[in-house]
Amino acid sequence: FERKKILVLGAGYAGLTTVTGLQKKLGFQDADITLINKNEYHYESTWLHQVAAGTIHWEEATYPITKVVNTQKVRFVPAEVTAIHRDAQRVETNQGEFEYDILVVALGFESESFGIEGMDRYAHTITDPQTSLAARQEIERNFANYKTSGDQRDISILVGGAGFTGVEFLGELIESIPDLAKQYNIDYDDVKITCVEAAPSMLPMFSDELTQYAVDFLESKGVEFKIGTPIVAANEKGFVVKENDEETQLEAASVIWTAGVRGNSLMEESFEGVKRGRIITKPDLTIEGYDNIFVIGDVAAVMNGEGEDARPYPTTAQIAMQLGDHVAESIKNKLNGDKMRAFTFDDKGTVCSLGSEEGIGVVFGREVKGRRAAFLKRVIDTRAVFKVGGPFLAYSKGKFL
Ligand code: FAD
Ligand code: NAD
Repeated sequence: FERKKILVLGAGYAGLTTVTGLQKKLGFQDADITLINKNEYHYESTWLHQVAAGTIHWEEATYPITKVVNTQKVRFVPAEVTAIHRDAQRVETNQGEFEYDILVVALGFESESFGIEGMDRYAHTITDPQTSLAARQEIERNFANYKTSGDQRDISILVGGAGFTGVEFLGELIESIPDLAKQYNIDYDDVKITCVEAAPSMLPMFSDELTQYAVDFLESKGVEFKIGTPIVAANEKGFVVKENDEETQLEAASVIWTAGVRGNSLMEESFEGVKRGRIITKPDLTIEGYDNIFVIGDVAAVMNGEGEDARPYPTTAQIAMQLGDHVAESIKNKLNGDKMRAFTFDDKGTVCSLGSEEGIGVVFGREVKGRRAAFLKRVIDTRAVFKVGGPFLAYSKGKFL
């Protein structure tokens, strides 16, 4: 009797929920479980806008993976996956090769620049702890420079895209930048924070009233919005945007692109039918032709139904964790020879924070705003840590203030 080899790639929300689920459901004798992740630590991607704005230190958003993985049952390998050979049932990494009977691909998201000229070169992104920290350091360096340069661009920040990431980042900036300005003896009124959004309205998933609440709040703290203004290029001066069919240069030394994500680019190299790093999954979360490969999280396009009207669910941490739970259960069923169930999403709602004290959202179907929304966001963030790591991790990493 040989134990089945289960290989999980990626220790974000999706991968880590799968592994912690498996270690609860299976005994050592049931399967040989390996988790591979690029870093020794997990990071809370949903807190990265705080790292980028400097309202938290990057280490606060991370913890060692061995803190939540039971190493008696799961082998954790810190390594970078470089290729997936789906027919040979083999995965290559920079630390050697791994074979599997069952594979779970949970390699997460990357920033998407849509081929916009200069974007990859001139703009920072909020993708992982390193890129987020680099954005923060850039802002700080430019503020420090202002003393000698006196150049308005050094205290100007451009944020590209007013989706959730852009808006939550602005919410953090209006908290951290007044302190930074004070530190360098700069009048906050002289600082320019501009957010540029292509669509004619922001956050279309919320009611106009909620969105207006967010806009009014951020504007009252000094943010300027340019809505209906697509960014067409980035260069050493800032963004080039299209206003009334004319190209205009917006100038800032700190430029952060928050206008989109895609699935990991290894997906295109490893599978067929991948679009923007995402592959359509079957209702049981395996992929066409491979009933031993589960794909979950931001690399998956999980459909909300069947037929022509079916649409992929948005890629969020909330769904990534539910997908991980579901796959752990499915693998247990598979090993027992039981049937696998179709995945259904239980939408608990969405909260968009505007710094630590404000926010907007819809929770269990009801609109919330202000301090209540900010409180609920902290509950959601803490719950995510609790779900993966239990009460001790929630105690050390949770947001209780
Ligand atoms: P990820 O979290 O991206 O994890 C992927 C893991 O795989 C990482 O650990 C990475 O290091 C690892 N990895 C990648 N490539 C390799 C490789 N080649 N080899 C080995 N390991 C690799 N969603 C919400 O529901 N609520 C929110 O409030 C929210 N806030 C957000 C705020 C920000 C600033 C951002 C950017 C996103 C936010 N999201 C939120 C979306 C959410 O973060 C993602 O949907 C979620 O992280 C997806 O989880 P995942 O496990 O699929 O991928
Ligand atoms: P997004 O794709 O949701 O938003 C990107 C925004 O950038 C859009 O408003 C888009 O119109 C704009 N944009 C695109 N191209 C542009 C251009 N050339 N010029 C100007 N604007 C442009 O991306 P995101 O905000 O990073 O979110 C990614 C995923 O993560 C989503 O599924 C989101 O729901 C999730 N997320 C959730 C939360 C939360 O629940 N609080 C927070 C952050 C992210």
